[in-house]
Amino acid sequence: MKFGYRERCLEHDTGPRHPESPDRLRAIKRAMAGRHSVEYVAADPVEIERVLAVHDAEYVDAFEIFCRRGGGNWDADTVASEESFDAALASAGLAEWAALAALEGHEGRETPFALGRPPGHHAVRDEGMGFCFFNNAAVAAQSVIDRGLADRVAIFDWDVHHGNGTQDIFYEQGDVFYASIHEEGLYPATGHVEETGTGDGEGTTMNVPFPPGTTEGAFLAALSELLGPALAAFDPDLLLISAGFDAHEHDPISRMRISTEGYGLLTHGVREIADDTDAALAFVLEGGYGLDTLSSSVGMVHEVFDGYRPVTDHEEVSVDAREIIDTVRQQGFDGLSG
Ligand SMILES: [Zn+2]
Repeated sequence: MKFGYRERCLEHDTGPRHPESPDRLRAIKRAMAGRHSVEYVAADPVEIERVLAVHDAEYVDAFEIFCRRGGGNWDADTVASEESFDAALASAGLAEWAALAALEGHEGRETPFALGRPPGHHAVRDEGMGFCFFNNAAVAAQSVIDRGLADRVAIFDWDVHHGNGTQDIFYEQGDVFYASIHEEGLYPATGHVEETGTGDGEGTTMNVPFPPGTTEGAFLAALSELLGPALAAFDPDLLLISAGFDAHEHDPISRMRISTEGYGLLTHGVREIADDTDAALAFVLEGGYGLDTLSSSVGMVHEVFDGYRPVTDHEEVSVDAREIIDTVRQQGFDGLSG
């Protein structure tokens, strides 16, 4: 893969005991060392206008001033340092680069993956939260639409948490489809099945809140039975993956049970959906807090694009997960006209 990476993202200092630490990126880089066809691209930071397309100026100004004055606790668990504003611009720039590179035709072994931090999917228009300040995937999606490079963008968020920020930003827009699989009841407790968008965005938000303990079998069923048909109807030019790895069975902060191979199967699944819908495909890093599980899972995504075919022993779909899938299907996503 082509990995977007900037040293600047290491400078976002969240303190000694924060799970969202620069060690996450260091662990990924270490795990990628020596692997076949790994390439790094130091993309430029995003232009502030691109950030202001999805965030309110007042909030962006307040965040910049907060950082320039030395940073601190933005909220109880969202921490900034003096360098965080510039790191956030770099992180959003990597996401934008990934979207642009995919639309330019980089695919297969050259599929782009933005390795930025701070992560983005909890950031709403006028507020940072949940370790996130700028919504990187949203900046990237809106940028390629505003540049006239894409008419429609889909964002599939497999982070274990619901991407409330991405959902909010695009909730009333018909040109961005947001789909999330997440652990029910986990932070920030949004992402119910009934949240499907309003106005022009009616039917372009899909939430699949699985119960704790769900394995990759249910995630794969959601891909083939829900996301695939919905995106076939929506017909996106670009599919962005908000790729968090905190649904891993050994991640310290969730109770989901995705194996490392499972992330390979999810990668294979989204690649098939992108192929079937003739959409460009790019990945943007979100969460993932076990350094070993995060780095091995990103490595697995890479290996799938390098030709590896993953397998699983966990193909079963629990009764509870099956019920959620059936309920989501009843929302009628495959009836969209593109
Ligand atoms: Zn997460």
